[in-house]
Amino acid sequence: MSGRYDSLKKHLVEHLSRASASYLKSALARCHDDPRAQDAEAQAAIGQAGVAVELMLKALAAAANPGLLFKDIPLEAKVFFHAPDELPAGFNWTPFDLDLREFAYDTISFDEAVRTFYALFPERKRDLRTYFKALSELRVLSVRAALVKVQRAELEKSVYLALQVADILSAREPAAYAPTDRDRKLLKAYDEERARRVREKTKAAKEKAGALKVDISFNEPPGREGWDAFETRCPVCKNWGFLAGWTEIRCEADGSEHLDFFADSFDCDACSLLLDDSEEMKASDMPTLFDRTEDLARWREDVDSREEEK
Ligand SMILES: [Zn+2]
Repeated sequence: MSGRYDSLKKHLVEHLSRASASYLKSALARCHDDPRAQDAEAQAAIGQAGVAVELMLKALAAAANPGLLFKDIPLEAKVFFHAPDELPAGFNWTPFDLDLREFAYDTISFDEAVRTFYALFPERKRDLRTYFKALSELRVLSVRAALVKVQRAELEKSVYLALQVADILSAREPAAYAPTDRDRKLLKAYDEERARRVREKTKAAKEKAGALKVDISFNEPPGREGWDAFETRCPVCKNWGFLAGWTEIRCEADGSEHLDFFADSFDCDACSLLLDDSEEMKASDMPTLFDRTEDLARWREDVDSREEEK
């Protein structure tokens, strides 16, 4: 049955890619042609970028296995997706084939598609997580209400994320949108603007730090409350500042276990330095990966208590 499986997979990936390319072209046209787009114009383009990203993520999920794309499919279809090579030639596939090709079954949500993406491309979670979080909220608002005071920056962030995903998808699917030279210039300008923003933030923080009268030797690290927060010294004023992010356990080949904290924003109360994402942190030469292995026992207790609650 693997021929049928490959044919269905190709069909789904191609159609999702083609549809996403159409949305992405519209969002990019607004971004390229209207440098001052904001409010209603930006809202429409953010909505288009949101749909484009969702469809591209679903294409990537389907490319791994079409079974990842659908929810509540018949058990026979699940068997087909999990073990296509095990099914006999006479397996009656016809009842499901047409429905799946026409997307008659519910597909995974935007956030589920993002989680699937993180599982398939864990190395991209670190640099894209804040972008996915922002777009997840903005896309819903952009189709359900009016985005008042939405700035060009939000549109650029959405398009930046869409182009990153398009880069991955177009490398494996010809029907997907392949970023052009014009798009690459947009990404370069975005990177330069980020570097400029970080320089300005650092300068303002240094000025404020110069006026601080706090002796850092009395400054205690804030308490570690959850697994989505950690602390480190501020790169400007050396006080303790807050990191937001997430914690993950890592097992090495030798059997040793480590606890990693991945930071995707930093906030210092003392000098007001605020770095909004991991890319801004990197631009200020801050690390984004921190070792929390000393908290491993507490992490295990929390995992165990969460299991018991289930
Ligand atoms: Zn500081």
